Amino acid sequence: MGMDTYSDYCQDVADTVDYVIHDSGSMDRDDWHGRLHEAAESTATYYSTCLQILKHSRNDDAFFDVYGSGHSLGECTSVGEVYTRLAFYAYLQDLNDQVRGYQDHDIASVLEWEKCTVCDEYFNPGDICDEKRGLMALSDTWSCGDCMDELEEEDEEDEEDEEDEGYPLRGGKLYSCKGKLSDDPDLQVGEEHVSNS
Ligand SMILES: [Zn+2]
Repeated sequence: MGMDTYSDYCQDVADTVDYVIHDSGSMDRDDWHGRLHEAAESTATYYSTCLQILKHSRNDDAFFDVYGSGHSLGECTSVGEVYTRLAFYAYLQDLNDQVRGYQDHDIASVLEWEKCTVCDEYFNPGDICDEKRGLMALSDTWSCGDCMDELEEEDEEDEEDEEDEGYPLRGGKLYSCKGKLSDDPDLQVGEEHVSNS
């Protein structure tokens, strides 16, 4: 992962944000703050990387936005420490800017989540058993675990209703149908005689 060119740098920022989102397993932006902070800390470590961050970042003065112009960086004891601080805030701000550009469907696509067609909420298909997930993927119609539970409860209620009323009725129709045929044997025989002669 290099930062030699501006586009390399933008790609690094985008990749880092995607990694953080994926790692969090959450669509809630509040869950990303700590991870973004850690990512900025670990990236803005080496002097050469810090220089590249400050070269490409559109937020190279983010440190001063945070601490104000009154801060003199006087507590730093080396040039390297100065660059590390400036680069950390620049990179963190670039990460946050990248996050701000993400719509819900972008986040869901990073997480590989799907949108429930019943309640319109995004959810993790990994929480659903393989068989059902396969069927949903085939038809590209997704329902989240909660909605699926509700649908299954409705199905069970329907089945109970059928057991109470439907089956005896169907049985009755079947018998009455047979009864009709056996009630009129003469008519059928008579017709056969007509067609045979
Ligand atoms: Zn749902």
